[in-house]
Amino acid sequence: PPKMTTGSGSLLRTPETHVALFPSAGMGHLTPFLRLAALLLARNHCPRLKLTLITTHPTVSLAESSLISRFLSAFPDRVTQMDFHLLPLDPSTVNSTDPFWLKFEAIRRSAHLLTPLLSSLSPPPSALIYDVSLIAPVLPVIQSLPYHLPAYILFTSSARMFSLFASYHNLVASALTPANINNPTIQFGDVLEIPGICPPIPRSSVSPLLLIRNSLFSNIFLEDGPKLKNLNGVLINTFEGLEAEALHALNGGKVTFNDGFGLPQVFPVGPFVPCEFEKLQGDDDRDQLRNWLDDQHDGSVVYVSFGSRTALSGDQIREVGDGLVKSGFRFLWVVKEKLVDREEEEEEGNLVIGHELMEKLKGRGLVVKSWVEQGEILGHRAVGGFVSHCGWNSVVEAAWHGVRVLAWPQHGDQKINAEVVERCGLGVWAKTWPWGGGENDKVVVNGEEIGDKIKELMQSEALRVQAARIEQEAKKTAGVGGCREKMLKRLIDEWKKN
Ligand code: UDP
Ligand code: UDP
Repeated sequence: PPKMTTGSGSLLRTPETHVALFPSAGMGHLTPFLRLAALLLARNHCPRLKLTLITTHPTVSLAESSLISRFLSAFPDRVTQMDFHLLPLDPSTVNSTDPFWLKFEAIRRSAHLLTPLLSSLSPPPSALIYDVSLIAPVLPVIQSLPYHLPAYILFTSSARMFSLFASYHNLVASALTPANINNPTIQFGDVLEIPGICPPIPRSSVSPLLLIRNSLFSNIFLEDGPKLKNLNGVLINTFEGLEAEALHALNGGKVTFNDGFGLPQVFPVGPFVPCEFEKLQGDDDRDQLRNWLDDQHDGSVVYVSFGSRTALSGDQIREVGDGLVKSGFRFLWVVKEKLVDREEEEEEGNLVIGHELMEKLKGRGLVVKSWVEQGEILGHRAVGGFVSHCGWNSVVEAAWHGVRVLAWPQHGDQKINAEVVERCGLGVWAKTWPWGGGENDKVVVNGEEIGDKIKELMQSEALRVQAARIEQEAKKTAGVGGCREKMLKRLIDEWKKN
């Protein structure tokens, strides 16, 4: 709105637009929230945008609490933090031991306690953007507030995965028959057909937890999917260059519910990219790592990481080491032995890898056990390939830097993300390699095979060219006047009306 002057000549300021953000547990969820926050704050056409960040304490990992502090120090005037106190969780009620999922569940069970917190915000926010893992429990809170609060979620995976999330309850309903209703596994066909989603999602790409009844995730998907229609919109860290078809299907009204309701608007607000505030200050390891990369030839190094919360088994770690040696390429390898960083012990990596292998690895690459700045690594000219579990943030970061990917999905949404990687040409996927963890713990991919795939990745000129093309599209989408800016502007305009 135009600014008006008062009689005394001072400016009547345009009203503040206030947005509340509510992430849940794990870096894979927190990071995209804070990157979205930074994008909203950076928008020069809305200098009076303020954010409230709702966080829970303690965080599961140290990486999360450290990132929250850095974010808050970067925007001292425009972000207010609110602590959300959770009810103690009774672990016996949850069918999982994963600390990140227990946290999801604790937040879900405590959601009603958000009411006083949201009621106290002043000025009342024009929108709440909250985590995909909390959809149903937060809706009644929103409805109970003394003011109207439009609700959006940030979906922290791919648009393709969102199509499954949105359709899951319908797919399950069609798969249940009187004959199989007591069967603990859900009898999906070989492929899950979702209108407009091409190619359809093979059952083999769906997390085993979504193929059985009553798992924590199956229950959350069943409860939350039908509630999507109550939202004002769904934000996804993606862009046309990666997922044009899925986005058209989702926004073209093709994906609908059994009861005839369509989906809310999907806003592709990606690519989200690593931000200034994420940088660790004065870190010796980081300097050492950068110096090592500086000494390597362009595109000659393969970077290996399975994200913030995936530990490989000791046997598999040793085979990866062997594969790296066999590939003959220089490497930067982040080894993770524990799900949660707090439990990780210094130096233990040497023990798992073993003295002999460690000797072979020496001189060929770096083995790192601490948190690395992945954005900086992928952006370094020396890095040519990325062996990745295909956590969605990692995929988008690889696309942003034009680094080709060898997809090695381990859990959850990661095979579906690997399909996106393969289809858009950002990388290759070793489809026969099994999921990590659980009953597949004993199935280990051997070093020979890993080495061959790494060679294939690093030597492929076609992949190099296609990854560079995707990088160009990412940069165009994120540039001035690009699609990302248009999407954010549309959202902010909606909020300003409120
Ligand atoms: N990450 C990082 N350094 C690490 C491990 C992870 O910067 O040592 C970042 C990575 O860049 C990404 C996020 O943590 O932004 C991990 O999210 P992703 O969706 O890739 O996987 P998840 O960790 O959730 O499995
Ligand atoms: N999931 C899984 N194993 C994992 C992580 C996730 O099976 O280790 C599945 C889960 O079944 C769901 C999907 O991942 O289908 C969504 O998980 P989300 O991305 O919310 O979890 P995160 O990995 O980010 O903690």
